[in-house]
Parts: sequence; structure tokens; C-alpha cells
Amino acid sequence: MKNIKVPVEVSARHCHLSKSDLEKLFGLGYELEKIKQLSQPSDFACKETVDIQVGSKKIEKVRIVGPPRGQTQVEISLSDAVGSGVTPPIRLSGDLKGSVGVVLQGPAGKVELIEGLIVAKRHLHCSSDEAKRCKLKNGDTVSVKIGGERSVVFDNVAVRAKDNYKLCLHLDTDEGNAAGINKMGGGEIIR
Ligand SMILES: [Zn+2]
Repeated sequence: MKNIKVPVEVSARHCHLSKSDLEKLFGLGYELEKIKQLSQPSDFACKETVDIQVGSKKIEKVRIVGPPRGQTQVEISLSDAVGSGVTPPIRLSGDLKGSVGVVLQGPAGKVELIEGLIVAKRHLHCSSDEAKRCKLKNGDTVSVKIGGERSVVFDNVAVRAKDNYKLCLHLDTDEGNAAGINKMGGGEIIR
């Protein structure tokens, strides 16, 4: 599993909405409008945004990523949380128990969540076949080196292997900035 090149994608702050929260925010029967396919085949960026209240801080126009999910999840960076009075935990997507509360405001209404706000834990998506080829399995931890002027090694990268995933390291904007990557780049699994 050494020296395998991987694409890197930087995820800006975004929300995933449950079907019922989507309707509370945008109206009954509302359907999200896809504007851009994301690297993982199931995910797409939507035209819609919401404003969120994180502690004492309001963050406007947070992009929604579709399709709707079982539970609403808001992902921000630690820099976003500075000055808000709250510190969201670093978690993998879907692991929301005991996370931080957040308020979402849409054109049709408001949703107040007692949990759902996280900072995404860096992770490597891969299909089951790619995992096998790289001698990795779901739940493993790897280190990925990013080259260039701000060369850095990210340890503690969680491997997320699933049939419909595609090989890609996901970082948040703080990590992307630290590594000198704006939106897209490349890295290498070194251990
Ligand atoms: Zn991801």
C-alpha cells in the first residue's frame, strides 16, 4: 500500500439535509436542483444554500450537497467556528451522536438541531476494488503526503471503502490551505 498516488479534493463548508428538514427549509415537496457532480458518484452540489447559526456566529449561503440523507449534517471548518463560542467535534460523516447543535434558515422556514454540526475528519474514499488493489480495507488509517511548496504529511486519514466510492482524499478548507491545495490536487499514500 505504499506510494499510491491519489487525487485530493477540498470540501468547502456544506450541509446534507434529511427529506423532512429539506421540506421545512424550502417547502413541501421541494426537490433540490443539481448544479455540479462531485467526485463521489452519489454526491452533487445543489443550487440551493441555507444560512446557518453556529453559536453566536451567522454563516450565510452554505451550499447544500444532495441527495437528501437520513439525518441532516452540517460540515464546517475549525476556522469557520472561530469566534462562535462552539467547537464542533472532528467526526466522520454520519457519526453525529453528541455532536454540536446548529440552526438552519431557508426561504420557507427554520430548523433547529441539537446535534448535526461537525468538522469532517479527513478521509480517503475508495471502491472495494481499489481498496483491494491498494491492500486497504474500510476502517484502516493511512498517511498521505502532499508535495509542493507547502509539502505536508496528513496522518490519521480514515479509509472509507464502499462499492460506489471512487479513489479520492477528502480534506477540509483548513487542511487544503495548510497543504497549498485550492479545490483539487494530488497526494501519495506513504504508509
Ligand atoms: Zn468525503
